[in-house]
Amino acid sequence: MSADLLHDDVASLLRTGDHRYTTGRRRIISTLNEAGAPVTILRILELDTGLAQSSVYRNLAILEEVGAVVRIVTHDDHAHYELAEALTDHHHHHLICTHCGVVTDFQLAPDTESTLDKAFARVGKRADFQIDGHRLDLLGSCAECA
Ligand SMILES: [Zn+2]
Ligand SMILES: [Zn+2]
Repeated sequence: MSADLLHDDVASLLRTGDHRYTTGRRRIISTLNEAGAPVTILRILELDTGLAQSSVYRNLAILEEVGAVVRIVTHDDHAHYELAEALTDHHHHHLICTHCGVVTDFQLAPDTESTLDKAFARVGKRADFQIDGHRLDLLGSCAECA
């Protein structure tokens, strides 16, 4: 999606949460958009050296709270951040290396997604729980760590 539309969407999410779209927040969103893959806070600071670490922590928490950014929890200090699927329209899953914390995106074939959704719908029905979507991360060892 175009960066302008992305920023409009983020601005409206922030407005709903009564937050302003400050320059620092805008730069984090741009960095995540350009990275195109889940990144750590350390990587965000490398990609935009003008950002201060303390403000990145604070702003990511707010962006996460309003649903613009998703935190992928791996282990230790390796949390990775990416734009929420609601903003990118790019449904995908993650391979998470439990040794070094590297996170890689992958997509499933549409028929596999639909098989999963049907299975999850049955789970929701049994539990009287309305399913709005799913997150599915695979855990293991990357090629470097295997
Ligand atoms: Zn690894
Ligand atoms: Zn899926």
